[in-house]
Amino acid sequence: MSVCPLAERGEGPHHGRATLVGAGPGDPDLLTLRAVKALGSADVVLYDALIDPAILDLVPARARRIDVGKRCGRHAMQQSAINRLIVKEALAGAHVVRLKGGDPFVFGRGGEELDSLRAAGVPVAVVPGVTAACAAAASLQIPLTHRDMSRSLHFVTGHGSDGTVPGHDWTALARAGGTIAAYMAGRTLPVVAERLIAAGMAGATPAVAVEHASRTGERRLFATLGTLPALLAEAGFTGPTLVLIGAVVGLADEAAALQRLAA
Ligand code: SAH
Repeated sequence: MSVCPLAERGEGPHHGRATLVGAGPGDPDLLTLRAVKALGSADVVLYDALIDPAILDLVPARARRIDVGKRCGRHAMQQSAINRLIVKEALAGAHVVRLKGGDPFVFGRGGEELDSLRAAGVPVAVVPGVTAACAAAASLQIPLTHRDMSRSLHFVTGHGSDGTVPGHDWTALARAGGTIAAYMAGRTLPVVAERLIAAGMAGATPAVAVEHASRTGERRLFATLGTLPALLAEAGFTGPTLVLIGAVVGLADEAAALQRLAA
């Protein structure tokens, strides 16, 4: 382990720092205490489009809020510009909180922001957040792993950087027999399902799409891998949607979950 002097770590005269904070899936109750503390000491907060206004209410009035949000592929601010802005504000002496949906390191580009901060010598901390797969599973009472049914959990994206479905190892995914949590797969689900079925996964495998997990207006669509794509297209989920695929989805307590929503 190497020890570097404070000045080299960027803790010199400017005292600026950055914290990458996972905001969780939307419900403020699912923020960590550490996330709340970080927000309370922020001078500047850069936040995404998926951040719920109730969470922004926790930002002190004196702090500046900057919306760097991206909506459905339309980037309000390029990732490189966000990276530069965090560094610039921190070097000017601010405590910059980069508030990100879910967990910063699960399909959140947290790694790219971390690289820029490290390169500029800005001290950085990371606060984990409840990722969408965990929030959706909790809401629907689906155990993501199960000793008898699912021995592995696979987080996959349905949306590559060029907008098409990424070239996952579909055969390995189908053969693993675990639970698949597909992020950003709302629009590409027909292709994702087709590839998994072609790779040997049964079309009858239980699957569910959850829109706005943990938020008011959460919607869910239970089906099978074979039938979910068409049903989802019909239902027209336009908000952030997570798809869970695997035998464990069959354990969901649909009725109880719906009662809770109605309460
Ligand atoms: N870092 C985030 C993921 C960002 S990628 C996390 O850890 O959750 C954005 C994708 O996350 C969305 O397209 C959707 O698939 C999923 N997502 C984020 N919030 C969600 C929510 N409240 N409900 C359902 N899916 C969500």
